[in-house]
This record gives sequence, structure tokens and C-alpha cells, in this order.
Amino acid sequence: MEQKKVNLDEVLKLVREINFDEFQNQITTGNSLEDVYQELVFLSNKMKSKKERADAIIEHISGCYEGDFFNYLPISENRDELDVFCMGFNTYIEELEHATVSKNKYEIAIKDLLQEKERSESLSKSKDVFMASMSHEIRTPLNGILGFVELLLKNKSLDDDSKRHLEFIKLSGDILLVIINDILDLVKIETGEVALFNRAFDFTILTQLINETFTKKIKDKKHKFSCKIEPNVPPTLFGDSIRISQVLFNLINNAIKFTPEKGKIRLKVKLLQETETTHTIAIIVKDNGIGIPEDKLESIFNPFEQVTTDNSRTKGGAGLGLTIVKKLTEMMGGKIEVKSVLNSGSRFKIILPLNKIVENQFSSTVVKPKTMPMPEITFDTKINVLLAEDNRINQILVQKVLDKHNINCITVANGQLAVEAVKDNDFDLILMDIMMPVMDGYEATTLIRGLKDKEKSSIPIIALTAIVTGTVVEDSATIGFDKYISKPFDAESLTSSIYELVSLKKGRV
Ligand code: ADP
Repeated sequence: MEQKKVNLDEVLKLVREINFDEFQNQITTGNSLEDVYQELVFLSNKMKSKKERADAIIEHISGCYEGDFFNYLPISENRDELDVFCMGFNTYIEELEHATVSKNKYEIAIKDLLQEKERSESLSKSKDVFMASMSHEIRTPLNGILGFVELLLKNKSLDDDSKRHLEFIKLSGDILLVIINDILDLVKIETGEVALFNRAFDFTILTQLINETFTKKIKDKKHKFSCKIEPNVPPTLFGDSIRISQVLFNLINNAIKFTPEKGKIRLKVKLLQETETTHTIAIIVKDNGIGIPEDKLESIFNPFEQVTTDNSRTKGGAGLGLTIVKKLTEMMGGKIEVKSVLNSGSRFKIILPLNKIVENQFSSTVVKPKTMPMPEITFDTKINVLLAEDNRINQILVQKVLDKHNINCITVANGQLAVEAVKDNDFDLILMDIMMPVMDGYEATTLIRGLKDKEKSSIPIIALTAIVTGTVVEDSATIGFDKYISKPFDAESLTSSIYELVSLKKGRV
């Protein structure tokens, strides 16, 4: 092979091009200048190829800046430092790819969650609307059924069989009403719709109310009922008297239901503790009835849980009462305890901390018994009542009830007609349904309260409605109703309310 003449300048040029360490490696092998030159050519070519690869890598990486993130770098067979770099880079891309996949999954999950949240919010809204209309739609016809049955039952010419059948219808209707109310209450508690109010109240009046409500049931079952409020219980307490009475009603109703005839039922209220800010009260309802098996003492507080499944048929109720009692008690910051011995009796104890300070006092009026004693008032002229009610059956029912009390009743089918009727006539009182076509009872009442004629704008208005969801009771006062009566109504409390409000207006009481 012909030897190439080696020029020192060429050698130096190559040396400048290549890495000094590698050159030193080669030079130390101690070969001839020619050999060194060949080595240098080889090394120089190697360096050129590395430079080309490095350029390609740089170009590749620049692509990443433009968004082409997941382009892996090729690994050569040389397994040199460039390959080590490429492998490191590829690992980084791999990690990035994993992170991006997780991020995408996370973003999809968040989007799904947001969609789900929107869906459940809209579902909850439609559920509320559904509950409000269900309450109205079921309670309104039920009002018709129960009202007419009651009127029929007063008919003296009824034979015993018909009377018994009517009593069955009434009982079934009453049970259905309790169940509907319980379900609606539970839904309201669970959706956080129940707001608690801090009102001044008197336990003696609350127990009086209980007495009045259960007198008939207690008498029918020949029970002995005693009620004791210990002297250390302050005469005025602050709390949600309506919710407290709801708790009491449920417990006493159960005690009456689950105690065989001639039983003993006791209600006791005592002050457990007094601090600077609270009065802790204990309410105890005790009976000597059928008792509750030990293994059921916890589960009776679960919805629809009953010791025996035939309760709803034989005693009424759907197993929701104690669930409501427990939830309400806990909402008020209290707790419920139960002790029971099978076939001996049960003892329910509610421990309730009541604030001494009124926080959100809605009204400082002390809760009054639901059924006011009928005032002994005789009016020289007939009372004129305007009834705004769209349901035909309810129109007839109210008219019949008022007829019996010699009260004149003019009926209109919506709020707009009610406002017009008030402008054109003189009424002593208005019975206003809330949900009506054309114009609802809220709007009509607001318009009447805004009339220039002071005599007309101050007419007593009773809201007579089947809506029990939402804040109807609270709204009633702010909108300008003088009273709120829920349907199905009690005929006596309706007429006594009419007398009471008309008397107040005429300055007779
Ligand atoms: P309901 O009375 O509508 O069945 P509750 O939730 O009020 O539903 O009560 C659940 C169950 O607990 C009742 O069905 C009954 O079996 C039992 N229970 C409640 N109170 C008493 C009581 N005072 N004595 C015996 N059993 C009771």
C-alpha cells in the first residue's frame, strides 16, 4: 500500500478538530506519525458523525418547543455519551407522557364531576319543585275527601254501616296525611330546607297544646296522662317551639299508639343545667306499653324501621316519626336517649340545650294553642268572607263550613279576581289560597296591602294553603297575611280564626 506523505499542518488541523483527551489516548500508543495520522482521520470522522448526530438531536429537541413533545430520540449502536443523553431524554419524555395522561384523566374527571354537580343541582331543584307540587297536588284532593267525610259524618240520618265505612275512609285519609307530611318533613330536613327559629316560648302553653291535641285519643284508649313541668324550668325559653312541639307530638303519639288500653303516659320537663348562655332542658316521655326489644333500640331511629311491620296498618304511621324526631333534635344541638323493657314500657329522653340569647328572633310571640276556643261573639250583621280558591271541591267545602257558622262567602278562582272583588265590595276577611292560576295568593295579597283605601288594605287575610315546603309560614308574615292555616284544615280552627281576626279588626276584643 502506497504510504501517504504526512504534512504537519494537516496533522495539526485534525488535532484542533478533535477532542484533546481522545487524541492523547491515541498518541500514547506510540506508533509512527503515519499511524497517528490514520488514527486522527478515523477520530475526525467519528467526531464529524457525532456532530451530525448532535445537530440532529438539537433539531429534534427544538421540535419539542414547537409542541411535538413525545418524539423519542433514536439510540445508535455506538452506545456512546450521546446515546446516554438520548436515553435520559427518552426517560424524561416517557415520564412526561405518563404525567400528561394522568393530567388528562384528572381533567376529564374534574369535568365529569362538574357536570355531575350541575346535574345533581338541577335534579335537586326539580325535586324541590316536585315535592312542592306533590305536597299541593296530594294534600288538596285529600283536603276535599277528609272535609266532606267529616261533613257527612255529622249527618244524623246515616245508618250504622255507612257511618262505620265513612269512619274508615276518614281514618285512612288521616293516616295518609300523616305519611305525606312525614315524608315531606324528612325530605325538607335532608335537603337542609328546615330553618330553625329562635322564638320566646312557654313550655306550659306547649304542653297545653299537646293536651288539647291528644285529649280525644287518650280518652278513647282510657289512658292516664300526666304532665309535669318542674318548677326550675324558666317560664320563658328561647328556641324553635314549633320543632320542639313536633318532637313532643311524635313521642306522645307513639306512647299512646304503643300502649294498650288503660295505660299510663307521662310527660316531664326539667331543667338539667344552666350556664351563662344556655338552659339545658330534659323532656321525658314515659309509657307502660308494649316496649321495644333490645336489639331494635337503635334501628327504630332509621327511616321506615318498625318493630313489627304491620304497624302502619294497625296503628298508623310509616316508621318515619322517630327518624324525624332524632334529626330535629340533633339539628337543635340536642340528643335523644331511649330505654325500654319489652312488655313493660319505654322511656324517651330528649336533652336540649336552649340558648338564653335570641339570635334570629322571627317573632317574639309566645306559641299559642292551635285550636283557639271559639269566641262567644255575636255579630249584628253577617260576616262577609272572600274566598280566593281555584279548586272547586275546596270552594264547596269552605263554603259549607262557613254556611254552618252563618258566615257569608263569596268565591273567586284566582288572585286577580280577588283584588278586583276587594276593590268593588266590602269584605270582613279574605281566605287566600297561595297556588292559583293567573295570579297567586302572594301577589294578590301584596296588591291588596298596597291599596290606597286604608279600610280595604287592612282587611284581615288568612293564607289557606296546601303548600308545606319552603318557607311559606315565614313568608306569610312578611307578605302581609295575618294568619297561616294549612290544608287540610280543621273546620273549628278555621272559623275561630275568622271570628278572632274579624273581632280584632272591629275592635271587639
Ligand atoms: P311509626 O310510629 O310510624 O311506626 P316511628 O319512627 O315513630 O314510626 O317508630 C318506629 C317504631 O319504633 C315503631 O313502629 C314502634 O315499633 C317503635 N316504637 C316507637 N315508640 C314506641 C313506644 N313508645 N313503645 C313501643 N314501641 C315504640
